[in-house]
Amino acid sequence: MPVLGVQVDADLRWLLPAPRRRPHVEVEVSPTDTLGHVVQSLGVPLTEVGTLLLDGHPADRAQRCDAHPGASTLVVLPRPRPQPTATTPPRFLLDVHLGTLARRLRLLGLDTAYEPNAEDDDLVRRAVEERRVLLTRDRGLLRRTAVPEGALVRGDGAGDQLDDVLDRFAPPLTPWTRCVRCNGTLTAVDKSDVHAHLQPGTRRTYRDFMRCNDCGRVYWRGAHSTRLEALVRRAQAALAQHTATAGPGVRGDADRATVGARTEPLSSGPRGHDMSTPPNDDLPDAVETDDERILAHQEDAWAESATGEPVPEDADLTEVAPDEERIVEPDVLEEGVEEV
Ligand SMILES: [Zn+2]
Repeated sequence: MPVLGVQVDADLRWLLPAPRRRPHVEVEVSPTDTLGHVVQSLGVPLTEVGTLLLDGHPADRAQRCDAHPGASTLVVLPRPRPQPTATTPPRFLLDVHLGTLARRLRLLGLDTAYEPNAEDDDLVRRAVEERRVLLTRDRGLLRRTAVPEGALVRGDGAGDQLDDVLDRFAPPLTPWTRCVRCNGTLTAVDKSDVHAHLQPGTRRTYRDFMRCNDCGRVYWRGAHSTRLEALVRRAQAALAQHTATAGPGVRGDADRATVGARTEPLSSGPRGHDMSTPPNDDLPDAVETDDERILAHQEDAWAESATGEPVPEDADLTEVAPDEERIVEPDVLEEGVEEV
């Protein structure tokens, strides 16, 4: 059985099983294995892989090992960032574990489908039909050959996950243009059109309203949107920073003359990932801090404020104790929702 030396770039090395998380590993390969299979067998989904170099020369992931009988070293580089996508701007499809991230992406105006109850087959089919990038924390899902474009989202919290998606795809942002609940687009409406559905205080205080073209929810930017505005500004600043760092081209392969030349310690991983956790197919679910919960509540409040439900002010929200029972969950707010 031939042996191939595999050097996985430091950015991807956290995906290797702990005993093999080294700059150079020896892998027994079958002559009929493709190079892509060799990489995936180490735990690295091909959606995360950019260029493969076989003894210094670019190699196709579909090539079989027996096409290069004398080859000794396979270098595995990550996808360049920002990563080109099939559509511009990119369209996303998120799996069940990424609901909070879905709301954030929609808030930023990105076309984001999210189906918490969809089976894996349905997700893959929809990604193909609608040319969407499948975002997931499930490596098994990304190993499906039918997945057209996908990404393993890094970060255990929604904030880090959003940073990762912005850094990876650098999508153009159009905040406040999309419904956080259903992904429909928003259209400005006259106050008179929604007058009957507004609380008296809202009627007096605000002039500019938008309505979802799909579900009819009414939005305006009131006192409750302070944290959301901060989130939007932070995302815009992060994207500007990424763009400035990237320069006119893309970051990635060209910046990596040799794997192993980088000096990150082996324990370094993607943002927020617990390296003590051995890799498996499903990365841990997003951790929701109290701040994340409050923010999620405000995202809903932004949409719900026209439904007759009182909208708590920031002070009320920040006083919520870190006790799940006392936190107002979106489901509670949904009761009595009156479609506009
Ligand atoms: Zn909607």
